[in-house]
Amino acid sequence: MPELPEVELAARLLRREAIGHRIGSVDADASRVLRPAGRNALAPLVGGRFRDVRRIGKHLLVALDSARGPIGLHSHLGMTGKWVVRARGEEPPRFSRARIALDDGRVLHYADQRMFGRLEVVPRADFSKLEDVAALGPDPIEQGIDARTIHARLQRTRRSVKVALMDQSLIPGVGNIQASETLFRARIDPRRPASSITAAEANRIAAGVIASVKESLAHLEAQAGDVSYVEEGGPNPFAVYAREGERCPRCKRAKIERIVIDGRSTFFCPHCQK
Ligand SMILES: [Zn+2]
Repeated sequence: MPELPEVELAARLLRREAIGHRIGSVDADASRVLRPAGRNALAPLVGGRFRDVRRIGKHLLVALDSARGPIGLHSHLGMTGKWVVRARGEEPPRFSRARIALDDGRVLHYADQRMFGRLEVVPRADFSKLEDVAALGPDPIEQGIDARTIHARLQRTRRSVKVALMDQSLIPGVGNIQASETLFRARIDPRRPASSITAAEANRIAAGVIASVKESLAHLEAQAGDVSYVEEGGPNPFAVYAREGERCPRCKRAKIERIVIDGRSTFFCPHCQK
């Protein structure tokens, strides 16, 4: 499932492959990823030239210049979304839902098996009007993490620390996988109430998020070709996620356990996470 590292990789791909290029044509299936709904949702992008690709948390904010002024594309990868580049005439990737043809013949495909993602044209590239983007906290990689702010926010919630960490207004980009990985690094039991986290532990959480995200990103960059997510049978780069029953890579004593918190699989070491 795409979290910050996978979305950052998508941002880098779009920057590398698309910036400076003009959109010749667009084509989309009538899928629920499109906003507004309908196959013509992306038509306003035709003629636009890619200027900038930003990422905040798991959101991609693409700005283009067109004859009618700036225009934006907001992309969220949902559970299975991917951006894939193909040469003209090359076989499309599986589950291609929308296609953006560039001026040099290459095609940007938005592929999404389960279609929980979103593709949304944003008039005047004014992303501040998007409610879920406006609600995001500072991006941990672009802007860093203020551990004191994290500590203060965690003090105020009775949710488990693992659920609290997935709140996108706290550290955007941290989802189910990175939350497990971060708490493993921080040696914190994911079931603990967020309000019990100490200042020292908040420091470890902040460092844990950065370390986990950077390690995942390095792993993704080393993967050749199209990214495949762990759930799709791709390689598992994680310390504890989806490693139930395996020996803990740190203490080498206990086995990684899987529990369900708030409906989501959570992985941790019962020996070294307190
Ligand atoms: Zn352990």
